[in-house]
Amino acid sequence: PSDSETYTIEKVKSLIKTYPDFPQEGILFRDIFPIFQIPAAVDCLINYLAELALEEAKSAKCGKIDVVVGLDARGFLFGPSLAIKLGAKFVPIRKRGKLPGPTIKYEYQKEYGLDVLEIQSDAILPGENVLIVDDLLATGGTCGAAEKLVLNLGGRVILNQFVIELVGLGGRKSLSGKTMSVMEF
Ligand code: AMP
Repeated sequence: PSDSETYTIEKVKSLIKTYPDFPQEGILFRDIFPIFQIPAAVDCLINYLAELALEEAKSAKCGKIDVVVGLDARGFLFGPSLAIKLGAKFVPIRKRGKLPGPTIKYEYQKEYGLDVLEIQSDAILPGENVLIVDDLLATGGTCGAAEKLVLNLGGRVILNQFVIELVGLGGRKSLSGKTMSVMEF
């Protein structure tokens, strides 16, 4: 078997590095970049995300996932590859001021002050089935705002997918769509 067939999600999990007090005191930062140093690990992870998404689309009886939305910035590492596997388009949701042309915005509360997310107005068509992907679910503030943008364009959130979920923070409670994570910390 090839390397990617023998790679397991447990092994992928063991690649994640933890940095105390980054980027500020009290935060235990979970770094997913070491995964990207091992192509077989990336392949294993993307295949796993795609399988879960296909199962969910089947059980939701929605047909197919039409759009994979990646969240700025580490959601962009997973979104395009996942979209290719699902035969879906990839669309970014970005922080304020990064996207050209007509956009819609959503303001949300962060730990310190307000933040704004944006999506291009024509990126999702009414009725399209959407999967939102990011590296990590913490409080759910970011993904909750992304859900609002997708819904405001008329999309249907079929699934929110994360590589890592910080379960102690209870972030999935603030999300309206079905939520899945590959590994919990
Ligand atoms: P939240 O909006 O609180 O769910 O935060 C999620 C976003 O912040 C994601 O885009 C993550 O990349 C980032 N994030 C939050 N907490 C951490 C952490 N402990 N380690 C790495 N990234 C984090």
